[in-house]
Amino acid sequence: MTVQSPESFLFPPTVPSLAISDSAVRFPVRRVYCIGRNYADHAREMGHDPDREPPFFFTKQPDSLLPDGSVFAYPQASAEVHHEVEMVVAIGRGGAEIPVESALEHVFGYAVGLDMTRRDLQAEAKRAGRPWEIGKAFDGAAPCSAIVPAARIGHPSSGAIWLEVNGEARQRGDIGDQIWRVPELIAHLSRYFALEAGDVIFTGTPAGVGPVHVGDRLHGGVDGIGTITIEVGAAR
Ligand code: MN
Repeated sequence: MTVQSPESFLFPPTVPSLAISDSAVRFPVRRVYCIGRNYADHAREMGHDPDREPPFFFTKQPDSLLPDGSVFAYPQASAEVHHEVEMVVAIGRGGAEIPVESALEHVFGYAVGLDMTRRDLQAEAKRAGRPWEIGKAFDGAAPCSAIVPAARIGHPSSGAIWLEVNGEARQRGDIGDQIWRVPELIAHLSRYFALEAGDVIFTGTPAGVGPVHVGDRLHGGVDGIGTITIEVGAAR
């Protein structure tokens, strides 16, 4: 048996981060929260009643963020990986029990993300009443564009959210149709977790989710925020 020396861990620690559009400064990411079923048409396509059940959240690891323009390596252990295009909120100022009325003061900016999902493993977990991690949190599971500061674009409350696969329309919705709006999401999430600068929140996907295949080009966006493009590469 080989014994590993403590010195072998003296690699420089890396802090996951996202680009900030038109800036040399990067946004260090602390946590990645995601909300499930936040558009009625997507809740329905997944077999659920969208009548404003309380929002629920899951997390991804910050090191699963993948920058715009990356190759997304088809993840291991799955034969059914789905795209979910989402508006992403970047928290610039922390807080707990944040009131809805002042929630937007905590937002630094917005981005476009893909909540990549191993749907087959998620479905198994759901059936067994187990946590979703295995379906949601894996290497490369969170492609995300550069963050556009709210100081530049304000706080978008409507606008098309869309995704094309190989130039073909797949997902289409409007962020104005979210069941829980950004201020409500922040208020609700901050009742369970103290938010800090560096937290990002994937805010849910509209209908039209579906499988991706090696060689696919995913191109999505939120009007008024930006776009993201990812290529699906072979498994590592
Ligand atoms: Mn999602």
